[in-house]
Amino acid sequence: MRRDRTGDAVNMRHSGTELDNHRDGDGRPDDVNRVVRRDEAVRSAVEQGLLGPDAPLVGLLDVVGIRDSAAALRAAFDAVVAPGTPVLHAFAVKATPLVPVLRLLREAGIGAEVASPGELALARAAGVEPERTVLDSPAKTTAELREALALGIAVNVDNPQELDRVDALMRQTKTSSPLGMRVNPQVGAGAIDALSTATATSKFGVALRDEGAREWLIRACADRPWLTRLHAHSGSQGVPLSLMARGIAESYALAEEINRRIGRRRIDTIDIGGGLPVNFTSDTTTPTYAQYARLLAEAVPGLFDGRYGLVTEFGRSLLAKHGTVVARVEYTKRAGGRAVAVTHAGVQVATRTVYAPGSWPLRIAAYDAKGHPKQGPTVVQDVAGPACFAGDLLAQAHALPLLEPGDHAAALDTGAYYFAHHYAYNSLARPGVYGYAPDEGGGIRFAVVREPQTVEEIVAESGGARVSALTDL
Ligand SMILES: *Cc1c(COP(=O)(O)O)cnc(C)c1O
Repeated sequence: MRRDRTGDAVNMRHSGTELDNHRDGDGRPDDVNRVVRRDEAVRSAVEQGLLGPDAPLVGLLDVVGIRDSAAALRAAFDAVVAPGTPVLHAFAVKATPLVPVLRLLREAGIGAEVASPGELALARAAGVEPERTVLDSPAKTTAELREALALGIAVNVDNPQELDRVDALMRQTKTSSPLGMRVNPQVGAGAIDALSTATATSKFGVALRDEGAREWLIRACADRPWLTRLHAHSGSQGVPLSLMARGIAESYALAEEINRRIGRRRIDTIDIGGGLPVNFTSDTTTPTYAQYARLLAEAVPGLFDGRYGLVTEFGRSLLAKHGTVVARVEYTKRAGGRAVAVTHAGVQVATRTVYAPGSWPLRIAAYDAKGHPKQGPTVVQDVAGPACFAGDLLAQAHALPLLEPGDHAAALDTGAYYFAHHYAYNSLARPGVYGYAPDEGGGIRFAVVREPQTVEEIVAESGGARVSALTDL
């Protein structure tokens, strides 16, 4: 689509985003078209008044891009599994907990991985079927477990105490829920400690290399005909593919050992978790699902030979590149020789980036007041947020065309774990979230995904109806 503008878009990409070190040559059509759509969406959001003086912050979601990623995920694994292998791709709801997004993914053949009563409720509201839902959480209550078994959704049991609870429930109820054990393969950490789930001391799953753990797991499966799955999720952003593959190889080896020891195929499904990292340094999608699926097929050939069903739980890699936070520049100033643009996007929509900028740098693209990519010589500047603390910076010392009041700063690749994860600091309002897609006339259509939060709602959620609760006590 719109090939005539494609070249333009690629050039704008390089002027707008300082971290971009991938050159035009490796631009896949999907990536190039996504940049074109993004630029059109920002311009249209200004033109249509979604973004402006009274709505200085929005989250935008690229519907075409989300569909493309869902299709790429399915195609990647279809290409490596034996024909007839049952495959469930369950989107990790925590990455973008918005009901219309879950519905869009459902229509694209993707289920839901949930880890709390809230996430389960979102998946159900989106119409995700129980057979396509997986519950993983390290702190499931008995009531949550009972509900999951009643619904027939898959449950991955985290630890021996939880297995005791499931044992008791299984004596009382009949269920169609597939049940698995989460293992921690203890293969080590990636670049971001907080997101590395397969360290020696991780809080998740049964630590496979601890003394006695392997034997305990084998016995647990031998004693329970309904315990038929193994689950491992070795981490998110920052964990190299080779380490993820090692974690999955450990699960596979354990499944083989369990089945050999029991003398039957007790373990029939392996849940490989999610965690495919996202490239935040350019518009190139890398690594791809196809690369990861091929790497797994080489590293763990038996996994895909048809003897095991497959569950995946990708989150960030499905959504990150399809979301953009766009914030209006309210004021600009200079401080100590540094240019500073004060915008409406800060810690409330980019919490991880603000508190841990070294681990979560974001690319910023500059747009002018009309929403056109801003041209001109680049100037090193800080892009600041609206919150009242000094560290509330979306980007520090980025080289961008000099931002001016009324311009827009866009934080790219923020479709997962950013604007959908509002942090209520300074009682800053949750921004509206809008999905966009091209319309027949060559323009852009928007749909409200989440209304912007009003000041009245902020008061109500902050005890507004209980104004005298403390003085009357
Ligand atoms: C967070 C999480 C995922 C998704 O991780 P991504 O890095 O977003 O792909 C999958 N499974 C489990 C158990 C998780 O906790």
